[in-house]
Amino acid sequence: MSAGEDEITAWFARQKELSIADFPIGIGDDMAQIRLGAESVFVTTDMLLDGVHFDLRKATLEQAGYKAMAVSLSDCAAMATIPVAAVVSVGLPASFGQEQLKRLHAGIISAGDKYGCALVGGDITSWNTENPFAVSVTMLSRKSENEPVTRSGALVGDIICVTGSLGGSGCGRHLEFEPRVREAMKIAQTVRINSMIDISDGLSSDLSRICKASGVGAVIRAKLIPISQAAQKGAQPLESALNDGEDFELLFTLCQQDYRRLSEAWDEPTAITRIGCVTDSGKMQIETSDGRLEDLRAAGYEHLNNYGAPD
Ligand SMILES: [Mg+2]
Repeated sequence: MSAGEDEITAWFARQKELSIADFPIGIGDDMAQIRLGAESVFVTTDMLLDGVHFDLRKATLEQAGYKAMAVSLSDCAAMATIPVAAVVSVGLPASFGQEQLKRLHAGIISAGDKYGCALVGGDITSWNTENPFAVSVTMLSRKSENEPVTRSGALVGDIICVTGSLGGSGCGRHLEFEPRVREAMKIAQTVRINSMIDISDGLSSDLSRICKASGVGAVIRAKLIPISQAAQKGAQPLESALNDGEDFELLFTLCQQDYRRLSEAWDEPTAITRIGCVTDSGKMQIETSDGRLEDLRAAGYEHLNNYGAPD
């Protein structure tokens, strides 16, 4: 059996215990929390590779820069924290020069400017030969007036919601998506969010992360899942909405009363859809469109499918 990113991340977390006082949120959430006196800073890092996360034969360097920032901004949204600053490191193919870096920079700045996140530094390295382009963003955020939201607070009976629509990100949307920073702030100001994650690897996989971190199960209803127009054009719209990666929508849970309050108060253009509820079954299930209850497997994007299980 092979083990993926979650297993190796959990193995790393077990090797050295972090001080809860200094690091209230440690390895394994969308961001880590570092306490500095009375204040906290949150940090996330994401590395994107040409040929994996974008394809520079089709995508522009502006798009690659935008996406690299937007992925980390989406993690800030997942914690309902406010983006502050980023440093960006790049590994350049030997043929890249200043012109390419300026285009990349334009994309980075366009995403940062939209969400008030400054570029404050970075590192430029270059291959000696024509190896693929890589870009890594490390982003800091700060607490809003509300507490940060983790993956581990889902409660039995919670309503499960998603923003926007799911599936079909491969049709280009993954290069130009809007991280749900503003939506996350507004939801957190309106109600208490018990748990939240951004859908980076597909609904089934990211819901399983909330279930695992919170020690709960979930039932979602196929009929309720908002399937994107791009996914509806494909051969398997529901599978696509469940398992395609890179939707970068928010998946969150809240109590029934707060769900009612949120749906009454919500007046933003980005839809919020109730897709199911948190259960005590300890497993993920899906109610099919003909009313049958089936087990739901985490079958989204797997980053490390060549690794053996860690000890
Ligand atoms: Mg995330």
